[in-house]
Amino acid sequence: MADPLCREKAEEIIRHFPKAEIIKINHYKDVFNRHKQNCVRQHESQALILAVKQGKLVYPGAEVCQNMGHKHFYYTSCMMNCLFDCEYCYLKGMYPSGNMVIFLNLGDIFKEVEDLLSEHPVYLCVSYDTDLMAIEALTGYVGEWIRFTEEHPDLVIEVRTKAGNIDFGKLPAKGTGKSIFAFTVSPDYVVEHYEHKTGSLSDRIKSIKRAMELGFTVRLCFDPMIYCPDWKTEYGKMMDRITSEIDMDRIHDVSVGSFRLSEDYLKAMRRNMPGSAVVQYPYQNDHGVYHYSEKLTNEMENWMVNRLREFIPDERIFRWKEQEG
Ligand code: SF4
Repeated sequence: MADPLCREKAEEIIRHFPKAEIIKINHYKDVFNRHKQNCVRQHESQALILAVKQGKLVYPGAEVCQNMGHKHFYYTSCMMNCLFDCEYCYLKGMYPSGNMVIFLNLGDIFKEVEDLLSEHPVYLCVSYDTDLMAIEALTGYVGEWIRFTEEHPDLVIEVRTKAGNIDFGKLPAKGTGKSIFAFTVSPDYVVEHYEHKTGSLSDRIKSIKRAMELGFTVRLCFDPMIYCPDWKTEYGKMMDRITSEIDMDRIHDVSVGSFRLSEDYLKAMRRNMPGSAVVQYPYQNDHGVYHYSEKLTNEMENWMVNRLREFIPDERIFRWKEQEG
């Protein structure tokens, strides 16, 4: 690893694992992209791969993601895979491996973002193909992104997370609105059954309140909504808690969408998770994207949008639509 900054970052991360066995590899793809790995089994005991990312580092936003009203929407991945373990996570269908890769050359990603900023403003999702907050104690990357954003007036970032108990003491002290913490919130039933290792709803609510106290912009993501027995009661209990504990006037905006996944990813996940109710649910397939039936999709999403309208004006409610890109 020639770059001294990358080497320094690698040593900093390795210091967290004094007993780890360290194996030098040539290229992360030699290990990560091997055939016939079982990413579900690997996730139970993840190995950590430290690597330098090459080629393109920042990508235009994907069609299945919301651009939240931003014209120049991009995403970047400083990591591959996640410490959290949501059963329905598309990463389980997208990657051949359940191991985790951390890219050490964050500076190269910053340079590519600066190139884009020389052409137009940029809205960038930085916690993509992972949950960066889950591993912030190890990498410090969210802190670095916030500092970088503060130095670049035309940049707005989104840090999406399902983390609870966030240690804001380790992040730059005050937000100026350009770093958006987007908390995905789910009912207790969904967290307990499908969102393994993520923060509980209570802990996510605590983190949301703390982020707002510190002046960070907060987005709430009711996306993906997951169907579960008596979903209306479960989502109703969650909404009662959120709207009684959080000052909804100070929420920047909200996104609403129900579970959807590309055919290829879901097929791979179904092979690897025969016992998972959320993965084996009989979704409807339209043009290569699996989703709930139109009736159930509308029922769940309309219900959520109507509850949110009691607290949030329509222009701050973003409902996912297929034609957005
Ligand atoms: S938190 Fe997000 S990235 Fe991580 S496992 Fe869950 S859905 Fe996947």
